[in-house]
Amino acid sequence: MKFFDSHCHLQFEAFDELREQIISEMQKNNSRTINVGSSIENSETGIKLAEKYSDVLISSVGVHPFHSLGFEIYEDKDESHNLKNIYPQNLNKLKELAKNPVVKAIGECGIDFSYFNHLKGSENDIINWKQKQIECFRFQIKLAKKLNLPLILHIRNEYKLALTILEEENFDGQAIFHFFKGNISEMEEILKNEKYFFGFSGVITYDDTMTEVIKMLPMSKIMIETDAPYVSPIPFKREINQPKYVVKVAEKIAEIKNNSINEILNATFENAIRFFGI
Ligand SMILES: [Zn+2]
Repeated sequence: MKFFDSHCHLQFEAFDELREQIISEMQKNNSRTINVGSSIENSETGIKLAEKYSDVLISSVGVHPFHSLGFEIYEDKDESHNLKNIYPQNLNKLKELAKNPVVKAIGECGIDFSYFNHLKGSENDIINWKQKQIECFRFQIKLAKKLNLPLILHIRNEYKLALTILEEENFDGQAIFHFFKGNISEMEEILKNEKYFFGFSGVITYDDTMTEVIKMLPMSKIMIETDAPYVSPIPFKREINQPKYVVKVAEKIAEIKNNSINEILNATFENAIRFFGI
């Protein structure tokens, strides 16, 4: 089945054994995905991979809120066993990387204060970390604006703050709220901007908190994603997640919206093609 997985990290080292096979399967059914960058280092490897398989892959460059504090929070083995991220991340490098023609978006970037729970920080540390995340986010909004590229947003809980920052930066481009988990009023607030979109992941196959939101959203605003190698959908929860499992997300949306899976796969494919301008 032909799909567009709008958020995936195929460049991560978790895919070292599987990558070639995944890509050749995708080539056979004309599916597409994007290697989303979450650090300078894996933005670079994402670009290299997309250059090699440009029929299937595009890339984004960005620094995730997780990597924006100036130090490593914890080692993520799925992201990398060998490649080391350098801290603090050199945001200026993003400007250079973003010039590559395979780069079709800036991000993932945004706000996620939930990571602070893992760290033992004083009140001052927390103020400082929040500031760092916001600065890093603002830098990437400015870059997206300058290069006329869409934004891939990673926002946890702080939807209101994110919208305020986007407004303060006079961002007038497109953005996708990846892995959307907000409530209905947050969804309605975002929906006021016709250039903003919503990404749903495999979580919706086993958690029904997004059902009402999905029911209310027009199909023209929805994209489907895996966030692979993370958060596998049911029935693949024990396996490493991969782009083709995005069909399970489409299946769930089809069920919620009383549509056929093919209609959902086609609509989300077209939405992603338009969003990334490819
Ligand atoms: Zn991601």
